[in-house]
Amino acid sequence: MAKDKKLTLRILGDPVLDQIAKPVEKIDDSIIDLAHQMLPIMYDTNGVGLAAPQVGVSLRMFVLDVPAPEDEEGHPLPVNSPGEIQLLPQMPMAFINPEVTPIGTETSEMDEGCLSVPKLYAPVKRPEKVMLKATLLNGKEICMECGGFLARAIQHENDHLDGIVFVRRLEDEALEGIKKGLDKILKKNGKPNYKIKRLNKS
Ligand SMILES: [Zn+2]
Repeated sequence: MAKDKKLTLRILGDPVLDQIAKPVEKIDDSIIDLAHQMLPIMYDTNGVGLAAPQVGVSLRMFVLDVPAPEDEEGHPLPVNSPGEIQLLPQMPMAFINPEVTPIGTETSEMDEGCLSVPKLYAPVKRPEKVMLKATLLNGKEICMECGGFLARAIQHENDHLDGIVFVRRLEDEALEGIKKGLDKILKKNGKPNYKIKRLNKS
């Protein structure tokens, strides 16, 4: 990747968001530089996570800046999983070649949004807990159980590496609820006849 190439946020309808991203082969300066270029793009749009395909780079990595959970008055809430305890204080972080595996059968539903699907939110059902295996920018490998909002953010970002934007996971009703907004986005960014390839359509 040329250093002077300006990265831009890619919006639903851009083919790079539908591609399966390639593993990072070596954590060199270009990867470190990429992570550092992704952060301001994420902060500019008030995101808590951004995957490399969302800036047009089809590589398996994402950055996260998930805040520690707080109650309505801003008091910290307890976190339970090793991932939340160890990773949240270190944010922002980049995760390279992540492998995400659900733990247990518990799921939860929560409204999700995506920087690549501006201003639209809809409920997505996902496993509550996952095992995250990944390499960090310093080359260190981690493998830890993650719960809470962190687990959700990890799954959302990891999905991007498999060409899955969250709208592909929506139930009929949820998809219908944001259809107008999606049509507008796709009219502007998608190829003619672009179709959202849904995952849970039986
Ligand atoms: Zn997203």
